[in-house]
Amino acid sequence: MRRLLLPASLAMSAAFSCGASPTDSGPIDPAFDYHSYANVDQFRTTHLDLDLRVDFQFKNIAGSVTLELKRLDPRSTQLVLDTKDLMILDVTQKANDVLGATAKNQTIWVSRPFHLEKPDPILGSALVIDLPPSKKGTESIKIDYETTDASSALQWLTEKQTASHKPFLYTESEPIGARTWIPLQDTPQIRAPYKAKVHTDDRLRAVMSAENDPKAKPGVAGAYSFVMPQAVPSYLIALAVGDLEFQETGPRTGVYAEKSMIKAAAKEFADTESMIQANEKMFGSYRWSRYDILVMPPSFPEGGMENPRLSFITPTVIVGDKSLVSVIAHELAHSWAGNLVGNATWRDFWLNEGFTDYMESRIMTAVYGEPRASMEAVLGVKSLQADLAKLKPADQILAIDLRDRDPGDGLTNIPYEKGRLFLNYLDAKFGREHFDAFLRGYFDHFAFKSVNSEQFISYLQENLLDRFPGIVTRAQVNTWILSPGLPADAVLPVTNLFQPVDTARDAWLAGKLPAKKIGADWLAQQWLYFLDGMPPTLSTAQLADLDKAFGLSKSPNAEIGHSWFKLVIVSNYQPGFPRLEEYLKTIGRRKLIEPLYESLMKTSAGTEVAKRVFAKARPGYHPETVKAIEAIVAPKEEASE
Ligand SMILES: [Zn+2]
Repeated sequence: MRRLLLPASLAMSAAFSCGASPTDSGPIDPAFDYHSYANVDQFRTTHLDLDLRVDFQFKNIAGSVTLELKRLDPRSTQLVLDTKDLMILDVTQKANDVLGATAKNQTIWVSRPFHLEKPDPILGSALVIDLPPSKKGTESIKIDYETTDASSALQWLTEKQTASHKPFLYTESEPIGARTWIPLQDTPQIRAPYKAKVHTDDRLRAVMSAENDPKAKPGVAGAYSFVMPQAVPSYLIALAVGDLEFQETGPRTGVYAEKSMIKAAAKEFADTESMIQANEKMFGSYRWSRYDILVMPPSFPEGGMENPRLSFITPTVIVGDKSLVSVIAHELAHSWAGNLVGNATWRDFWLNEGFTDYMESRIMTAVYGEPRASMEAVLGVKSLQADLAKLKPADQILAIDLRDRDPGDGLTNIPYEKGRLFLNYLDAKFGREHFDAFLRGYFDHFAFKSVNSEQFISYLQENLLDRFPGIVTRAQVNTWILSPGLPADAVLPVTNLFQPVDTARDAWLAGKLPAKKIGADWLAQQWLYFLDGMPPTLSTAQLADLDKAFGLSKSPNAEIGHSWFKLVIVSNYQPGFPRLEEYLKTIGRRKLIEPLYESLMKTSAGTEVAKRVFAKARPGYHPETVKAIEAIVAPKEEASE
């Protein structure tokens, strides 16, 4: 078992106050972020100013961040920031702040002593900066730095790895990756607006989670300027640089993608404006001005990332039939749940994801109808049940204890699907009208703020439980949020559209129905259900029958491909393997490929395939994906032999 060092901020708050400090054992302090070193009780960032050069030759970002900080405690003379795998070159302080009137008309920057603490494998190194005492309250600290090869929020793609044959860089900061490319207070408790200047290759376009001008042309030597006027947490600071084109899909929506993808993407995501309007009608206005989508390279590890004003989206949802656009509904819903009102610590991640999943269902119902939305919800519950069967009780709790752990460990179906079911439950109990009004009020009340689970519970108590007494008790709410498993009174989604699928599958398995007579009018969700419900193994003849009838090995739908290749692996269906290898080499979305590697590793022949394919695919995967697949195909003990 690995244990964390006491975060520096804890050690410091112990030094400055006599109150009890939270530690990584004993009761959790819900207001404390165990995944940040930042001493936010003494300094709070009020603005960030980035000046960065993105260098594709050296694969690094070099430049500076100027943090505007409010000193809450005048006795504090040490500022502690989060960093991981960064080279810190210099730290200076705007001296006008401390010198006062004498230097009013000129900007003077004075060097300040700093050092990096011993690194922790998960949290990185605290950057400790010594500052002179000041009663002023607000000050500017500039840090010059460079990223390194180990900066894991960055993925650098070479010319060979993109469709445009031009290089591509993107960041993925959630949950604690921002500190690997910017030294800052890397905790969602801190929100601040930012501006940025990005210099890059003049053949390329830079975009950020900020105001992007679709008509922007690179300035001198590929320089771009950005402003993010709203206060955002560090995990929502995002940057991408590539050979990007833009196509409008609505008055405030559009798509950025490489040329070869732009038309298909704009068509697939043509309903984005309808989705925004549907959500606005239910939960209040969209507060971020534009909503654009950036289509990522296939190696992007997630389905989507809700970077404000510019969601980063996997290309695996571009199918040609809008069958997987629930990912857009999801990322868009984050513009309310997460981006507008966000989790205060990673223990409260369910407040982002559970709310978002619930709203995603509501958007999908409004835009594509109830039948499709309920099929998606039922499939979600199935994946939740699979997780509940595997996860230990402590990890089935919505407000999960992640002390001493990587916050990525909380990325299971629990915050998403169990969170969604909790909101479904409140919706069913209090009625749609009251529950929608409650959610609207919640988004207004906490707009641009961070919330922890306990604050949410108090707000819920006051604004729903007490307002409509005798419907749901505090104890029932606590069971949902603080206990493992699924409460017995959960309201599970239902659909009658899977019943004909069950009938067809049974008949086909019994040899009574030829494959080609199956599924002429099925939606993608029915195909997923059809494949996922197959018995553990099928014969080669059966798989050949399915593949011949439906071309499953070549399915343009990556989710269907995933379900199909699971069957191919378990039944060792050799004709399916060449396409499986292709699939693993071209897609880096973790949800789609990790289970396939896991399944391959269960047999010795499969192990050989997994290792061989991973060796080839590895350079194209994101660093976090590499780490995850490494843990599957070459666990540490084995690697060190
Ligand atoms: Zn999400």
